[in-house]
Amino acid sequence: MSRLDVEVIVVGAGVMGLATARSLARNGREVALIEQFGLGHTRGSSHGGSRIFRLSYPDATWVRLAQAALALWHELEAEGETLVERHGSLDLGDWEANRDALAASGIEFEVLGGGAIARRFPLELARGETGLFQADGGIVRADAALRALHSSAIASGAQVLEGTRVTSMQPDDAGVTVAGAGVALRADAVVVTAGAWARGLLEPLGVALEAEPTRETVSYFELATDEPVPSLIDFAEGAGPGQLGYALLAPGIGLKAGIHHTGPATDPDEVGAPDETIAGRTADWVAKRFRGASPLTRRETCLYTNTADESFVVERHGRIVVGSACSGHGFKFAPVVGERLAALATS
Ligand SMILES: Cc1cc2nc3c(=O)[nH]c(=O)nc-3n(C[C@H](O)[C@H](O)[C@H](O)COP(=O)(O)OP(=O)(O)OC[C@H]3O[C@@H](n4cnc5c(N)ncnc54)[C@H](O)[C@@H]3O)c2cc1C
Repeated sequence: MSRLDVEVIVVGAGVMGLATARSLARNGREVALIEQFGLGHTRGSSHGGSRIFRLSYPDATWVRLAQAALALWHELEAEGETLVERHGSLDLGDWEANRDALAASGIEFEVLGGGAIARRFPLELARGETGLFQADGGIVRADAALRALHSSAIASGAQVLEGTRVTSMQPDDAGVTVAGAGVALRADAVVVTAGAWARGLLEPLGVALEAEPTRETVSYFELATDEPVPSLIDFAEGAGPGQLGYALLAPGIGLKAGIHHTGPATDPDEVGAPDETIAGRTADWVAKRFRGASPLTRRETCLYTNTADESFVVERHGRIVVGSACSGHGFKFAPVVGERLAALATS
């Protein structure tokens, strides 16, 4: 059995764990990041080529958090490649709260009529529909972001153990012992960024995480033109009553789309398959909204870890720090969440 003593152990190398380990290492902390699979695997929440980036949120607190995250993404970009592509964000349906939160934060936006939207983008709107366009939105190149966070963390001295599943964490007065197959590690504090697996990992420690994993289906489409489209959030009835359709550019493929939070509750250890009914509903919605888009056979699943109000869990319980930031919109915030988790772990 190999032994390793560090200041902080981070469990789970999705985008949150990578961002946390990077932040710790850049602050001169000895950190080990442990991942049960290989980096960039497709079993959790962080895989794929893109995620929506947007400043447009219905609450100014989220707007400010997205602004803080954008500054940190740009800082990471300075170490290498472009990670945030600015194609704009477009909200359809009930966008008034977003407009007010943007205005309160001093951020520019445009309210566009359906005709103006249809002339500017390959989108269809019903008579009388309007939309909220914000130019700083777009996408985060998710796979590139994971690589960049990893390289930066390693360059700053973080150790990364792949293919190592943590099976127990035992805090005591002096530290925490973390055990997995063939390894025992000791640290002053542990940050759990285990995504959909976090609830099961924390339960034996008496930490109840009110976050339920669901398995979501995303589908891909070919676009009729190479013109970039804004990241679309459709609060209108297009995707079905009470449903939210979303779509964004998928670099090298075309368009990625889904219907928010429609997947079933799931066990993250199962290897799930895309839900064809949800894929069909997504295709219907895309056909209604995107002129000339055609479905590709490519679909995938991705795990949401949902809290009731879509907020994030960033908290400390003794020597254990919990970082569960998903509810289907966490990726864009990873650099800022990582900094907060790192600060909690070392406070
Ligand atoms: C369909 C879909 C669409 C999304 N769209 C957007 C979007 O447009 N914009 C946006 O900002 N966000 C979006 N998100 C949310 C975003 O992707 C997530 O918030 C983010 O990826 C969560 O990252 P994470 O690091 O918490 O979890 P994960 O990426 O799942 O990472 C957790 C890691 O912990 C590892 N692990 C678990 N247990 C153990 C253990 N015992 N030992 C060792 N390792 C362990 C896992 O293998 C995994 O690698 C979307 C998510 C999904 C699923």
